[in-house]
Amino acid sequence: YRESIEEMDRLLVVGELAAGLAHEIRNPLASLRGFTQMIQRSKDPDSNLSYTQIMLNELDRINGLVEELLQLAKPRSQPFFQRNLIEILNSVVILLNPQAIVKSCAIHLSVENWDWQQNVLCQPNKLKQAFINLIKNAVEASEPGRIIDVIVKRTHKFVDIFIIDDGPGIDDSILHHLGKKFITTKESGTGLGLMLSQSIISDHMGQLEILKNEKRGTEVRIRLPVCQ
Ligand code: ADP
Ligand code: MG
Repeated sequence: YRESIEEMDRLLVVGELAAGLAHEIRNPLASLRGFTQMIQRSKDPDSNLSYTQIMLNELDRINGLVEELLQLAKPRSQPFFQRNLIEILNSVVILLNPQAIVKSCAIHLSVENWDWQQNVLCQPNKLKQAFINLIKNAVEASEPGRIIDVIVKRTHKFVDIFIIDDGPGIDDSILHHLGKKFITTKESGTGLGLMLSQSIISDHMGQLEILKNEKRGTEVRIRLPVCQ
């Protein structure tokens, strides 16, 4: 039963992300077309060289976006792997950026001590799905122009991830039923995101806590054990 709910959530999330990415890919494609035309007409090999470098960068960026989406769309890898948590968070931010940009919001990922061993034992796609759900909620709750902070801090044997937005804050009634019922306050919401995120995090021996931030909106805290 839970597997099919997870599958449903995953497909919905992938569909939404794909719509956002399609948008995000159109602009670089237009600029690639422009550069191709310029090269076609130009007789100056020096400027052509700099055009092609920009084009390669744009192509790599598009390729990266599509690759991330395909990874997520693939039937999930069930086994647990040691993976770099920051890489996982980075790819989640890349996937959600288009949705943030549409709202003129930005997702800031900040990490204390980049040098530590950041590996967590995880089912990478499931963990991504949990983070996507949680950060997507933060984007959806944000007013235009706001920053969504994703902060990573290492404590002794754990890593803490904070997701903080400036939205209205989460309703007490939702917190009350967290993990027990599907609740949504959104017109086209499913109420699946929080419940699944919680079960995914607990599958990873982690803890998920959601609270109202005193100064801002909602604060999500995720604690995961790190590989020693
Ligand atoms: P959905 O996003 O489809 O509504 P979720 O399970 O992800 O389902 O979230 C359930 C409800 O929890 C949302 O409808 C919303 O009311 C509330 N919620 C979740 N995250 C936040 C947040 N960051 N700020 C405010 N409310 C939130
Ligand atoms: Mg949601």
